[in-house]
Amino acid sequence: MSNARSYQLFIDGRWRAGSGGASVPVINPATEEVFAWVAAASSSDLDEALASAERSRRAWSSRPANERGDILVRAAQILATKMANAAKHLSAEQGKTIAEAAGEYARAVETFDWGGTHAEELSAPISMGPNRMIVPAPLGVVAAFTPWNYPAVLIARKLAPALAAGCPVILKAAEETPSVAVHIVEALREAGLPDGVVNLVFGAPAQISQHLLNSPIVTVLTFTGSTAVGKQLAKLASNNLQRCILELGGHSPVVICQDADLTKAVPAISEYKFECAGQSCNAPSRILVARPLYEEFLSRMTEAARKIKIGAPDDPGTEMGPMANARRIEAMQRLTEDATDRGARIEAGGARLDRPGFYWPPTILTAVPKDAKVLHEEPFGPILTVAPFDTIEEAIEEANATEYGLAAYFFTSAADAKRDLIGGLAAGAVSVNYLKGVSADAPYGGVKQSGYGYEGGEHGVRSFQSLKLINGHGSLG
Ligand code: NAD
Repeated sequence: MSNARSYQLFIDGRWRAGSGGASVPVINPATEEVFAWVAAASSSDLDEALASAERSRRAWSSRPANERGDILVRAAQILATKMANAAKHLSAEQGKTIAEAAGEYARAVETFDWGGTHAEELSAPISMGPNRMIVPAPLGVVAAFTPWNYPAVLIARKLAPALAAGCPVILKAAEETPSVAVHIVEALREAGLPDGVVNLVFGAPAQISQHLLNSPIVTVLTFTGSTAVGKQLAKLASNNLQRCILELGGHSPVVICQDADLTKAVPAISEYKFECAGQSCNAPSRILVARPLYEEFLSRMTEAARKIKIGAPDDPGTEMGPMANARRIEAMQRLTEDATDRGARIEAGGARLDRPGFYWPPTILTAVPKDAKVLHEEPFGPILTVAPFDTIEEAIEEANATEYGLAAYFFTSAADAKRDLIGGLAAGAVSVNYLKGVSADAPYGGVKQSGYGYEGGEHGVRSFQSLKLINGHGSLG
């Protein structure tokens, strides 16, 4: 423990240990060794964070929006200068390759820059004719909970819009990946963010969420994580009627139509699916292929999956690193065994690699019965199922046959198939002839059990505002 890095809480503008002295180990997923510790917040630390956020609220919400925006833009610039070092830390904690970590940081930088650049415009009154207008008003203190899979970009997607809108934030970042939160908060501090506007805590997730959401100081809850935890938090938030933005799980289909160009579809799926070892809420997990293309697709997809170079995340030749934690390996094992017990075939991968670290190879399952758990439970890992279909109607029905509705993808050039799929797929985002996730300038949010509310773009900032309607006679100026 003596050489291990340690991460602290940031409360009221000061880095410090938890008042109870407790800390949580951080495990390197490539070695399974503890290599850092993160301070755990006690109830009194959380009370201090709440009081600090509340004290900062009035000044931050009434600060001119262009000044708030300038701080975010400066923070983006500062973060960009820290990127090389920060990417190494993220890769060591999370298991994604250094190139993936650097790419994720670049998106976080872009998100802060976007929020900063648009803060003034999105805080401005909106005219509704000569006698009415809408004044966007910050909703107040935000409790933000972020996960470990894309910790940099997911923190940015909560902090940047909330701060742009004029809301202070208490951030509980993932204990598995603390360095990212520390780098981001430090960049905001260096950029001139006043004390108390962002407080950062770690610790026991359930205790922290309960404590923060029990407080009437918190007016908005924003969470990214599993549907099960999202529902628990929404229940807690109902006591104080906190607004909720819930970005939850996904189980995304890709529909490969008869005219699809497999030379484009297969590499695109392979690259997007196996990034971050498949631990992405919008990664595709169920491939539906028009029957005439099925065998050809399966053979190309299997070959692509087998070719992926698995290895240590800091090896420049590695294309896919380990999974983030032991829980994910157990889930891969359980879902694969359940499917094969029911008669599914393993075309690639299918078993944990025999080496230290949480390594699970790209896995392709076929002949998966409809009641297999892998078709219903979010795999959140490098497992793909592949199945044939005969009609577009059947493909849409299969694509929609989970409780999730986050992302969906399809490959075709036929206008009628495009129209039917865009209209029929129950998803928050649909990508056509390529696979794309979130971006700084566009709204992203799920339907069904994938959550509600939006992050990204104008809608992401509006999530932290009330739209105050002003009625008046004569000029409102
Ligand atoms: P989990 O549901 O226990 O935790 C997910 C995240 O929520 C973690 O960051 C955790 O710290 C936090 N969390 C857990 N309980 C909490 C609570 N009571 N209050 C506040 N925060 C809480 O699952 P896990 O094993 O860490 O991750 C695996 C599952 O989580 C996956 O199956 C996937 O569904 C989901 N997940 C989704 C996303 C996403 O991007 N939507 C990201 C990470 C995890």
